[in-house]
Amino acid sequence: STPGGSKSREEKIVVTVRLRPLNKREQSAKDQVAWECIDEHTIVYKPLSQERVAQPSSFTFDKVFSPASYTENVYEDGVKNVALSALMGINATIFAYGQTSSGKTYTMRGITEKAVYDIYKHIVNTPERDFRIRISGLEIYNENVKDLLNSDSGRNLKLLDDPEKGTVVEKLVEETANDDQHLKSLIRICEAQRQVGETALNDTSSRSHQIIRLTIESTLRENSDCVRSYVASLNFVDLAGSERASQTNSDGVRLREGCHINLSLMTLTTVIRKLSVGKRSGHIPYRDSKLTRILQHSLGGNARTAIICTLSPASSHVEQSRNTLFFATRAK
Ligand code: ADP
Ligand code: MG
Repeated sequence: STPGGSKSREEKIVVTVRLRPLNKREQSAKDQVAWECIDEHTIVYKPLSQERVAQPSSFTFDKVFSPASYTENVYEDGVKNVALSALMGINATIFAYGQTSSGKTYTMRGITEKAVYDIYKHIVNTPERDFRIRISGLEIYNENVKDLLNSDSGRNLKLLDDPEKGTVVEKLVEETANDDQHLKSLIRICEAQRQVGETALNDTSSRSHQIIRLTIESTLRENSDCVRSYVASLNFVDLAGSERASQTNSDGVRLREGCHINLSLMTLTTVIRKLSVGKRSGHIPYRDSKLTRILQHSLGGNARTAIICTLSPASSHVEQSRNTLFFATRAK
């Protein structure tokens, strides 16, 4: 079988939207559900009263997931093919994009777990290949890079330009996974490390980006000759809150105080917009931020990308949700 599937998905960027349920806090504040997934491709704004509805009020994507769907559905229909292409030597990146509290971390954790499960299933089913999986984890906070597998490394690792590998993070720890349980425990260490920062610095997760990178190498052996090798990166990226992508909302009004613009997020949105336009988009500013430098070889070119845009259903968040849907529309 061919993981990554050659069937229908020729597109390089797959864009999906996940609408989460109203949470307890929103429910007790009598917040209303403002969005509805009317079919598997379309999400619409539901006005609560006679209010004038900003246009457009309906958005269409490769797939939209209603509050009733499971992360399993998001993985199967929006991510799996992209993630598993890394087994065949094609770099792949999975992003969660959305405002703070919209469900990025919740979704990304489940997606990562399901991808790891599928990767090891493929390894077991492909005995003719020898696989080796390495993992690294990093966080970018205020354009400073921190190693999530080595808390002693400080919070400002340097980026170096390697003639063969491209941009590399100096001294970033890479662990080789012995098996799936070991890999899962290393992923948990990265997640826990990010949370440590959160309590110390308050609110870091809304400002920081987390990248968990798996490097998957495999060699086909025939009569003990090494016949063919693959190597690719698979990146799981939990982005900073999208409210930091821009200082203005769609009406050009400045967002509330303290909502500092995030250089890496802003550069990423530009890079993705240019990639989605294709060849005629001209210069792509990968080098303008740490996030896009680190991901350069896993975006564009031959690489494959899945973007899951997470959305709060609450009417109090309509402005941010619309901004997320505009980003998602431009990424298609
Ligand atoms: P973000 O990372 O975007 O800031 P989180 O992933 O932390 O947001 O989600 C915010 C809260 O909403 C968490 O308590 C999370 O468990 C919950 N949540 C998010 N998405 C869902 C979902 N699809 N179903 C149920 N609960 C969700
Ligand atoms: Mg989060």
